[in-house]
Amino acid sequence: MAKSKFEYVRYFEQENKCLKNCWIVVRIDGKNFHRFTEIHEFDKPNDINGLNLMSNAAVNVLREFSDINLAFGHSDEFSFVFKKKTNIFNRRSDKILSLVNSIFSSSFVFLWNKYFPNKQLIYAPAFDARIVLYPTDQNLRDYFSWRQADVHVNNLYNTCFWALVLKMGLSPVEAEEKLRGTLSSAKNELLYKNFDINYNNEPEIFRKGTVLVRKCISWEGATKPKSVIIPLHCDIIKDDFWNSHPEILD
Ligand code: ATP
Ligand code: ATP
Ligand code: MG
Ligand code: MG
Ligand code: MG
Ligand code: MG
Repeated sequence: MAKSKFEYVRYFEQENKCLKNCWIVVRIDGKNFHRFTEIHEFDKPNDINGLNLMSNAAVNVLREFSDINLAFGHSDEFSFVFKKKTNIFNRRSDKILSLVNSIFSSSFVFLWNKYFPNKQLIYAPAFDARIVLYPTDQNLRDYFSWRQADVHVNNLYNTCFWALVLKMGLSPVEAEEKLRGTLSSAKNELLYKNFDINYNNEPEIFRKGTVLVRKCISWEGATKPKSVIIPLHCDIIKDDFWNSHPEILD
């Protein structure tokens, strides 16, 4: 096709590429999910269907991109990591970021009815997204440690907050005041003494978040190995996880 005189505008486009050899992490986070979860009457502090919906939307992202072997999420966020050698879309960041976010967001809406068959989606949720590049394996591990440490801090706080509000009848402001500046040990004690909750016995999905790992499995009679995506709710800060799945860092 002949070039039109308008075509020069294409050269205004800027192409940002993700630096070679770096891990490409994409993190998405729900926009104002404080409100979204309130309007959609999520169980507090943790709505299990909401968490499973997030994970299933994330599984769709891993199905789409075979260069993602690991993802981690909790609450309204999920992080995806592309292999450092990936050449997907020539490592163009706009393409990577926009498609991961779009596949995740549309899957969240598409799968809503499966997890909330009796709840209508009242408005269209949105997610923000960013790309972060990590040059070393240690940086990548520290990134995931940071996100999982965040789950612990937030979930311990939220478990206390909602126990005070829902079980003790405090107002949100009173609950917040009571918790302000308290250490983890005091929060554990508050749960145990007042509500007979041993925080360590709370479900692992709430305390640790959800890890998705891609595994290649083969079995007798199979023509070729099959890639499966496995959800785990385990510690990813200590070495155990990384030693058990060494292929993630390949
Ligand atoms: P922002 O747009 O800045 O991200 P936000 O309201 O989404 O604002 P976050 O820090 O991302 O703020 O917090 C997410 C909120 O969504 C928290 O209030 C959290 O309790 C709630 N939330 C997310 N998932 C669930 C869930 N499965 N069950 C209950 N509450 C949830
Ligand atoms: P890519 O992922 O590279 O964008 P693509 O298949 O989306 O691949 P495009 O160049 O964006 O390629 O072309 C969009 C395609 O969708 C065209 O084949 C077009 O005919 C079809 N399409 C889009 N909207 C409509 C529509 N409303 N009715 C019929 N066909 C449509
Ligand atoms: Mg935020
Ligand atoms: Mg959010
Ligand atoms: Mg969040
Ligand atoms: Mg197109």
